[in-house]
Amino acid sequence: MNNLYTKTAMELIEDISKGKISSLDIVESLLDRIDKEDSSINAFVHLDRDKIIKDSKNLNGSTSKLKGIPVAIKDNICVEDELTTCCSKILEGFRPPYNATVIEKLKEAGAVCFGKTNMDEFAFGSSCETSCYGPTYNPWDTDRVPGGSSGGSAAAVANNEAVMALGSDTGGSIRQPAALCGVVGLKPTYGRVSRYGLIAFASSLDQIGPITRTVEDNALLLQVIAGHDKKDSTSADIEVPDYSSFFKKDLNGIKIGLPDEYFAEGLNPEVREKVEESKKILESLGASFHEVSLPHTEYAVSVYYIIATAEASSNLARFDGVQYGIRRQKTENRRQKTEDRIASGAKSHELKTPLIDMYEKTRGEGFGEEAKRRILLGTYALSSGYYEAYYLKAQKVRTLIKRDFDDVFKECDFIMTPTTPAPAFKKGEKINDPLAMYLSDIYTISANLAGIPAISLPCGFTKDKLPVGLQIMSKPFNEGGLFNVGYAFQQVTDFHKEKS
Ligand code: GLN
Repeated sequence: MNNLYTKTAMELIEDISKGKISSLDIVESLLDRIDKEDSSINAFVHLDRDKIIKDSKNLNGSTSKLKGIPVAIKDNICVEDELTTCCSKILEGFRPPYNATVIEKLKEAGAVCFGKTNMDEFAFGSSCETSCYGPTYNPWDTDRVPGGSSGGSAAAVANNEAVMALGSDTGGSIRQPAALCGVVGLKPTYGRVSRYGLIAFASSLDQIGPITRTVEDNALLLQVIAGHDKKDSTSADIEVPDYSSFFKKDLNGIKIGLPDEYFAEGLNPEVREKVEESKKILESLGASFHEVSLPHTEYAVSVYYIIATAEASSNLARFDGVQYGIRRQKTENRRQKTEDRIASGAKSHELKTPLIDMYEKTRGEGFGEEAKRRILLGTYALSSGYYEAYYLKAQKVRTLIKRDFDDVFKECDFIMTPTTPAPAFKKGEKINDPLAMYLSDIYTISANLAGIPAISLPCGFTKDKLPVGLQIMSKPFNEGGLFNVGYAFQQVTDFHKEKS
């Protein structure tokens, strides 16, 4: 079989334009690769081969921008008539009757929707271990996690089972798995990409973004999915620039801030070393570095887990067995039970209706442990008496965190940090310790709280050959600037070319 699966989207588009290959050749190459590899990676959870082949054939000879390039889609993005389950049992069998805006845009640009990728249930997690379809394995070391929640998308791209993929990022779910799998992941500015049709986790933090092997492919995919959408009231009516115009090979005059708070205790020494080496590379390209401070960083994880769980508890209220997914009803003899309770003195308001029973059973069976934990935490933070102390306070601190960034961006064009405090951890290592798991996102969460864009670039390997990610953050709507830094960096490094 051909080895088209190793090529980037840019290379494939060129080959198609020259008439050397067709979209179908690419799709067949990838499907073959998946047959050989995915049983040990588990990156894909739904893959309708016949539909993919049919869609690909229909794009034969297409003059569209993407010319039939396949794009893998995270399982929380609605694709019309295709299974979209957020890797949760509660959405088993759910096929949305409509496309997310990003899917409409991909189709208009001539992409083939190439299967749904594995994820932590409802995007809650940093390891891709909470999926109802079983975990995804890191292609660099299958005893380790690929990161999460978009672990399936990152692993598929890293393992050449997909050319490009979409993920979603609420607190790091694109950048963290991109870092742990050695690929490029971008969280766009809040509002840059429509969230319409993304099954909501935390609506004030969620963004869809691209996961690819190169910065150029990343820019290409963002170019297609970005832009204002009337169906998402939080989408920004700001023009989308031509991202390819940012592919410059030097960084002359560019100022990059290094926040002390991100290089404190707890940072793995090998990760620190790779980030320091990256600094030298960027300096050699013309950038200058400046020490800066983001003083409210220490509150980011606490603030995030109040806001994100509060919004999640409200967003997940819709999954009650009435309209979507599974429905479970109690089977015992209700009437007898009710009569027994009345006989033992229960008041009428204490008697559960069959409807409440159905909600409880459906949600009890449908949601996994982490989803339940978040619903409980979020409901608590929003309940009367606690709302001011937790949710409102968290919102105020969120503003302070955002102001820290505003202040730094008055002096600097970018901020550079590690993407994660450590390389990929072992499977099972943190799954029973939610706090340790929550700390995996310590460096990524603040960008979501501040609404700013951030990219993770492969920047080296540990001595055990585990990828390390470099995070660059920028002021809102400067994704182009991130592509400039990333492009220049990839011109002089080969980390993104190494194979797992
Ligand atoms: N790992 C973080 C969480 O569990 C972020 C997840 C995400 O970005 N979707 O909430």
